[in-house]
Amino acid sequence: MKRTRSESLFQTAQQYIPGGVNSPVRAFKAVGGNPLFIVKGKGARITDADGNEFIDYVASWGPLIFGHAHPQIVEAVSTQAQLGTSFGAPTELEIELAQKVAEAVPSIETVRLVSSGTEATLSALRLARGFTGRDKIVKFEGCYHGHSDSLLVKAGSGVLSLGLPDCPGIVNDLAKKTLTLPYNDINAVEELFSSLGKEIACLIVEPIAGNMGVVPPQPGFLEVLRKVTARSGTLLIFDEVITGFRVAFGGAQKLYGVSPDLTCLGKIIGGGLPVGAYGGKKEIMDHIAPTGAVYQAGTLSGNPLAVTAGIEMLNLLSQPGVYDDLEKKSERLCHGFKENVKQAGVTATFTRVGSMFSMFFTDQEIVSFESVKTSDTHLFKRYFNAMLEEGIYIAPSQFEAGFMSAVHTDEDIDATLAAQGRALKKARG
Ligand SMILES: *Cc1c(COP(=O)(O)O)cnc(C)c1O
Repeated sequence: MKRTRSESLFQTAQQYIPGGVNSPVRAFKAVGGNPLFIVKGKGARITDADGNEFIDYVASWGPLIFGHAHPQIVEAVSTQAQLGTSFGAPTELEIELAQKVAEAVPSIETVRLVSSGTEATLSALRLARGFTGRDKIVKFEGCYHGHSDSLLVKAGSGVLSLGLPDCPGIVNDLAKKTLTLPYNDINAVEELFSSLGKEIACLIVEPIAGNMGVVPPQPGFLEVLRKVTARSGTLLIFDEVITGFRVAFGGAQKLYGVSPDLTCLGKIIGGGLPVGAYGGKKEIMDHIAPTGAVYQAGTLSGNPLAVTAGIEMLNLLSQPGVYDDLEKKSERLCHGFKENVKQAGVTATFTRVGSMFSMFFTDQEIVSFESVKTSDTHLFKRYFNAMLEEGIYIAPSQFEAGFMSAVHTDEDIDATLAAQGRALKKARG
């Protein structure tokens, strides 16, 4: 495969951009080689600067559940662009997106729009601390909640793939307020809350972990989180930046029937443009300025272009049958992966919830950060590169989710399975 143009762009990029990328996970550090520069995407496929085409399972790391350049989204964004791209004043579009989100997500009554997932989680955290008057927070090992100081502790894939230790630049006294527990460990949660519960402002969790590869919640885990936080007056925050509108229209809380106090959203609700959001009960959300004293703001928050894309995305997702179709296609793909793995005589463990899935090169049951870390990352590296050669674009790390979109066709899936069979044999050696 020719990569000369991407190689040369990467050389230039490194002169002007740290590491040549604007987000570290794009750098291919964990898999060797250099990142591909992408020039266009259409449906389930992307094309790089050398003209190579790939079937895409990264989906911009989750947002593109209707693929690249969906005509309905493109048209809405172009129309809005002609009317103006930003006003710094309220628009009716913001009401429409907020209303759609509030109607879809069970625990959300009111919602504040921001411009990224990171902003959503850091704002929700500040609100929780302001609302409860407490400092301590709890998160789980391997869960990623954006890169804000309080949350960048034991934070999963990006940090894990690069092998970085705890991040320099984060004030120690602040990091100390972040307590971490093993994902899915009910006993550890109950123990911590029975001693310190009354000092904890919030517990934040990915209801389906998606940033150490996909790690589904064990039965009862989310219910216990709900129970112990309610008992201690601690706010339960679901970070549904990946899972919101991915696993169901209304997110993981709809799927599992557990209702958090606050919910963070991002990725899909921007339809491929920068949108994040956090919401919950009006009574809690009203502590945010201008009604309350907890300050949070944004020049481009609720930006009309981004909000328009989000509205169209939710319109597309609310058509009947979308999630059933995603489920069927994802099931077929992962079933085929399993068959290929058997055929190739490779050891792997699969996880999947709806259209988010992972294949870990380990024989361990996948329940936590400890278990995903047993994966054979050398084998993954060879597998990733063999897949790329075959024209299949997956995330360049063992510790990331794969994403199916509504526009992957049966032919795309067949082609992926044939390619994956060959790639596995090559990687196995
Ligand atoms: C991607 C992600 C974030 C951060 O969102 P950004 O838009 O990258 O800032 C936060 N939480 C989860 C669960 C995510 O997957």
